[in-house]
Amino acid sequence: MTHYDVIIVGAGLSGIGAAYHIQDRCPSKSYTILESREAMGGTWDLFRYPGIRSDSDMHTLGYSFKPWRAAKAIADGPSIRQYVIETADENAITEHIRFKHQVTAAAWSTAEARWTVTAQVAGKTVQYTCNLLYMNSGYYNYEEGFTPEFAGIESFKGTVIHPQFWPEDLDYSNKRVVVIGSGATAMTLVPSMADKAAKVTMLQRSPTYVVSRAAEDKIANTLRKLLPEKIAYAITRFKNVELGRIFYNRTRSKPEKVKAFMLNMVREELGPDYDVDKHFTPSYNPWDQRLCLVPDADLFTAIKSGKADVVTDTIDCFTESGIKLTSGETLEADIIVTATGLNLKLLGGATFSVDGEAVNFSETVSYKGMMYSDIPNLVQTFGYINASWTLRADINAEFVCRMLNKMDELDVRQCTPRLSEQDKNMETKPWIDDFSAGYMQRMMHLFPKQGVSGPWQNTQNYAKDKKMIRKAPLEDGSLIFDNAATQAVQQQQDAA
Ligand SMILES: Cc1cc2nc3c(=O)[nH]c(=O)nc-3n(C[C@H](O)[C@H](O)[C@H](O)COP(=O)(O)OP(=O)(O)OC[C@H]3O[C@@H](n4cnc5c(N)ncnc54)[C@H](O)[C@@H]3O)c2cc1C
Repeated sequence: MTHYDVIIVGAGLSGIGAAYHIQDRCPSKSYTILESREAMGGTWDLFRYPGIRSDSDMHTLGYSFKPWRAAKAIADGPSIRQYVIETADENAITEHIRFKHQVTAAAWSTAEARWTVTAQVAGKTVQYTCNLLYMNSGYYNYEEGFTPEFAGIESFKGTVIHPQFWPEDLDYSNKRVVVIGSGATAMTLVPSMADKAAKVTMLQRSPTYVVSRAAEDKIANTLRKLLPEKIAYAITRFKNVELGRIFYNRTRSKPEKVKAFMLNMVREELGPDYDVDKHFTPSYNPWDQRLCLVPDADLFTAIKSGKADVVTDTIDCFTESGIKLTSGETLEADIIVTATGLNLKLLGGATFSVDGEAVNFSETVSYKGMMYSDIPNLVQTFGYINASWTLRADINAEFVCRMLNKMDELDVRQCTPRLSEQDKNMETKPWIDDFSAGYMQRMMHLFPKQGVSGPWQNTQNYAKDKKMIRKAPLEDGSLIFDNAATQAVQQQQDAA
């Protein structure tokens, strides 16, 4: 069995970033990346639907160490995939990736201070060992998306597609398309398909907040012309983080004002005759669920052109020729796209054990949103839902490197978050709190809990995390460094 200091699972945006940080800050550590697919890029390789793009700016969704060079800050999927590949190639990370390795299990042995990681490769089982297991496997199921049960779906004579599995050869020219959903995917698909399709209807059960923003960041593009690239990127990144933070905080402190501001923007776009109350006014406050960003108002332009429209209603059933709504209306369609969401998946669906005991993550408490109580040497990347994912992935990776270097400095092999007797009585709450989106709520019971104080929180707040993760001492009384190699040898000798 080949042994590595670190095994990274997943070669998406986070996994490639993790590898970069390890090479940079822990150059003596050996590592491999186990990736279940044939290509890197994760989300940005999997999703191929028309118009696939980010909905946060690439100056914060990009890595801290690699400037985003393209003019468009809201970037398309292929450009993001290329950015990930370029990062891996130019830093000699690609040769560390083992593709088509689906990790199915990981077993920790305290005596050996190592994980044994089991993967499936073309029907065969292979195993590797590592001291630290670093899960960058994303947060959703790659094999299936979420589709609610629709009565009569089998009777529909047209084509039904889930955006996660877009058929490369789908011709939707002059077709009537209904997109079910009101999330980022639906908002992207509708204007992108409107050009060629006869008509695209976005059918939503309830509205989402939609904000238009320029696809190009003029300040970023000007700074890039005037300043050295890295400095320009750092300034834009700082600007965007701060603007995002100020806006998010305002949605929490003055939700009514932010709501009025956003709805006015939509009214200005769509004109006085459009029913903004019905189609664009959610029942919840801004950022109680994810906001949808539309670049250069493309969704509104498509609606104004008459090639796209929004229907707010519920589905009674599918029919042979479309969808019957509970209001009694019908929507005729040739193609129905179920942009109904993702299925969350914890830690790439692998099973975990510690010294022979199966781990039930819902019984654990999250440590800083990246480790779990009583599980040694296991780190996970789970980014922000209210800011760019990579902001969090980057600081996680810095923390992992500090932890690896600390273990060397102390000459120990293990670091484990441990709840003190007092912590064990601490009040707990769900892993993601204060966010009511269905895809989160459906699976939250499987995730670890978080505490209400100290390092046991999963703050979902970049400013707080920077203090808690980047600056706080590693030996904080909760993260326990132990299991020295010399101790283990002594124990073995004593036992003998
Ligand atoms: C359509 C879409 C748009 C998005 N837009 C944004 C955005 O604009 N801004 C933002 O911040 N976030 C966005 N997100 C969230 C997005 O997923 C993250 O930004 C980011 O790409 C996640 O990167 P990741 O590497 O952590 O995970 P992923 O991209 O999901 O990559 C995980 C990798 O791990 C591999 N893997 C999983 N399980 C296993 C296993 N058991 N064994 C081996 N390999 C495994 C997968 O094959 C994959 O390659 C979006 C998500 C989607 C679906």
